[in-house]
Amino acid sequence: MLKDDLKHLYEIQKLDIEIDELSTNLESIPERIRQLTLDSEKHKSSIEREKEAIEQLKESKSDEEKKLSNIKLALEKNKKKEKVIKSGREGESLLKEKENLIRDEGFYTNKLKEINDRLEKSVTNLSNLEDSLGDVINSTEEDIKLYNEKEKELKNEIERLEDKKKRIAVHIKDPLMIKKYERIRENRDGVGVVVIDKPICGGCFVKLPQEIYNELKNGEEMHYCEVCGRILLWKGFIDE
Ligand SMILES: [Zn+2]
Repeated sequence: MLKDDLKHLYEIQKLDIEIDELSTNLESIPERIRQLTLDSEKHKSSIEREKEAIEQLKESKSDEEKKLSNIKLALEKNKKKEKVIKSGREGESLLKEKENLIRDEGFYTNKLKEINDRLEKSVTNLSNLEDSLGDVINSTEEDIKLYNEKEKELKNEIERLEDKKKRIAVHIKDPLMIKKYERIRENRDGVGVVVIDKPICGGCFVKLPQEIYNELKNGEEMHYCEVCGRILLWKGFIDE
């Protein structure tokens, strides 16, 4: 009977929709794993960047310390000369030099303080990043493990549903019906057969001719929506 074939076809479609959902989920897993790995790599590069920053700050610190120690030496020299020369042009120039050196001393002391502050922040940041790296790696590994398990589960479930489909398909008398259904499904967002309980197509919502609607209920021949081409199935022929 045609109506039994249609009913089986509808069962197959329900499984197909389920399989489609599971497949979408399955296909998204490699990208999710890639993203997780990327996040973990980003964390590692942050650590490397912070280490480089610390090295550079240490170099700058040592440069500025050298400058400051030269200034201090020059100041001591200046002081010694000051004891001997107190007046005249030489005395003026010594005073001028002293003023400049004191100004420079202030400037480089501040600069050194800034570098030390930045260095302290970077060291704290590095230590935090290094502390959390272990957790990040562990949780990434755990998540990847879960995704791999999920992948297996999804594959098994899809296989189970495909088997179920095959067992239903053997009951369909018209071998062309499944082929037609699959072709329509491919072109119509995964829905090849629509259930009708009023004279409106359940797929594209166009109004169906009353005559077609009445014939549908007889279940004696196949009817397709004239607009979207989907197979029409009277609701009374299915169990829901
Ligand atoms: Zn339609």
